[in-house]
Amino acid sequence: MDVSRGLRRGFRPREMHKAICSDCGKECEVPFKPTEGRPVYCRDCWEKRRRR
Ligand SMILES: [Zn+2]
Repeated sequence: MDVSRGLRRGFRPREMHKAICSDCGKECEVPFKPTEGRPVYCRDCWEKRRRR
């Protein structure tokens, strides 16, 4: 993995975990470890839900 690629000042690479969005079913990456049995949402769905 090339971590230096895309490195910018102030940018901290976070560990990303692959997950399937519980809403749209798309494969996505989340900055936290997905917990089994708990829904995971992609960025789009997360924003969508937050906004309501
Ligand atoms: Zn989604």
